[in-house]
Amino acid sequence: MRRAVFSSSNLSRAKGQGSPGDARAGLFHTAAQSLFATLLPSDCRLCQAPLTRISRLPVCDHCLSGIAPIGGRLCAVCSERVLTPYGEALCGECRMAAPPFVRAMAYGSYDGGLRELIHLLKYGRVRPAAGVLGRMLAEVIQGFGSEFRSAVVVPVPLHRSKLRQRGFNQAEEIARAALKHLNRSELTLAAGVLERKRATESQTGLTDHQRQENVRGAFLVTSPEPIRDQDVLLVDDVFTTGATASECARVLRRRGADRVFVATVARVLKSEAAWATPEEIEEPRVLKAYA
Ligand SMILES: [Zn+2]
Ligand SMILES: [Zn+2]
Repeated sequence: MRRAVFSSSNLSRAKGQGSPGDARAGLFHTAAQSLFATLLPSDCRLCQAPLTRISRLPVCDHCLSGIAPIGGRLCAVCSERVLTPYGEALCGECRMAAPPFVRAMAYGSYDGGLRELIHLLKYGRVRPAAGVLGRMLAEVIQGFGSEFRSAVVVPVPLHRSKLRQRGFNQAEEIARAALKHLNRSELTLAAGVLERKRATESQTGLTDHQRQENVRGAFLVTSPEPIRDQDVLLVDDVFTTGATASECARVLRRRGADRVFVATVARVLKSEAAWATPEEIEEPRVLKAYA
């Protein structure tokens, strides 16, 4: 805060130049600017550029607009990139064994700005990031189109020790933001359906098989009533190998859910753009439901 702005000598000098109104407006502007600079973070938390406008989310427009939807040809079931430009769009894994969910879709690739934005929510505990991520999730949900008429929305739960530590479940925060944005009465949030029984080890650095073993038996349906004979839309921040989504879908269906769909904000793409031309990467994904 520049205290000189408020000193009487400064005020009288300011009155000497231009109209008194101009001077007052200028003074107010300067005071307001320095006040905001004191109260709010002045730099983008992603690229460190100074922020030019006031927002609850300390991320600049440039970083936000750089987050693009996944483009190119994707597996019709799990949304992994498929390398063959022709024939049935199914990845090798889904071809070998159908997952327990009907379809999993994600907004963007889990890298760059999107990854940082998710980290800002989860580890930086910047809660307003859930609003932006929720709008991305809302687009994913819209992309399912008429695949389900109504669905019970179930966020992937955290173990209670992790929930205590973080203070909130990011999947639930994002789901709430998306549903608020969509305002569709046929989608109902049921946050207490699933429970994570075990504090699973971090999945980082594990092979696909180890991930499956890691989450096996980690989830429990604690209240099956809301999901009985219903379609379920499982929501999470990131789809990594599908081990968590598959295990949740498996227990949900065993306890009476009809079909399970999976919507996440981000997805790890194993075969990141190995074949795609820059044009294909840039082209926004055309969702089946819109075609
Ligand atoms: Zn930025
Ligand atoms: Zn697949």
